[in-house]
Amino acid sequence: TDKHPQDLQLFLDKLGTRLQKTPQKGSVADYIPELARVDPDQFALSICFNDGRQFSTGNSTTKFSIQSISKVFTLAIALGRLGDKLWQRVRKEPSGNPFNSIIQLETEQGIPRNPFINAGAIVTTDSILSGSTPKEALAEILMFVRAAASDDDIYINEAVAKSENQTGHRNYSLAHFMKSMGNIENDCDCTLGTYFHQCAIEMSCEQLARAGRFLSGGTDKHHMIDKQRVRSINSLMMTCGHYDGSGEFAYRVGIPGKSGVGGGILAIVPNQASIAVWSPGLDSCGNSLLGTQALEDLSTHYNWSVFGSP
Ligand code: GLU
Repeated sequence: TDKHPQDLQLFLDKLGTRLQKTPQKGSVADYIPELARVDPDQFALSICFNDGRQFSTGNSTTKFSIQSISKVFTLAIALGRLGDKLWQRVRKEPSGNPFNSIIQLETEQGIPRNPFINAGAIVTTDSILSGSTPKEALAEILMFVRAAASDDDIYINEAVAKSENQTGHRNYSLAHFMKSMGNIENDCDCTLGTYFHQCAIEMSCEQLARAGRFLSGGTDKHHMIDKQRVRSINSLMMTCGHYDGSGEFAYRVGIPGKSGVGGGILAIVPNQASIAVWSPGLDSCGNSLLGTQALEDLSTHYNWSVFGSP
């Protein structure tokens, strides 16, 4: 990719055009009414290499709801604050269950499988909230994301947060169940209010790809967290970043990634690049259908799978 930037740009443009013509685009998440209104016919991709070059294609400056991709940023903040103590409250194992599953919580004493399923992310957010108000916690999360992206033009969509709060019965039940098991420190409404707002952060692919540089080991300026933590977070993205589709994503794409039901995916080529892709149509596990396809094509073409090259 180094010698021929024009080839990479051409590859991306062709990929975008080809995928946008695909008839099967998946279906937009409709359990959050505000997200159901998004036009499914959109596609964007942006790559930031560690040397500073950035390439984009499609609707790459259109903002979308990052949803569960926010869990990567809150995990980084929580680990920075609590260190390994966080692992007393949430584990590091793939769940094999959908993003909002409640079933393992009862058999596993209210300790969620990993920080990327909803239950685990709610615990992670709860840990950031302790000692602060929801407003302060959200300010801290936004500050981290903006600093990572080197861009202050990143905001929370209040309508999306409100919409999710109104229909978030499943997340309420997860939080209250964990509270009953002693694994939520704050008032459940405050923890969930913070969680719904972090999920409602909006970013474009260009912004998100830049924000992911702290995980690809970009230039010195982006060493926002220590290298051991980068490795920990990437490993969790690889094993747990796509819910019950995590094995499939590792198999097809072969790099760490975190999806969100807004149709975005943040993927990391360790020590090389940060990639953001967005297309709102989802597969049956809630992961972007065209986004996954784009990442598979890209990582196959450039031999980026961490599992070896053919
Ligand atoms: N805010 C969403 C929820 O909790 C996040 C799910 C996702 O992006 O996968 O339902």
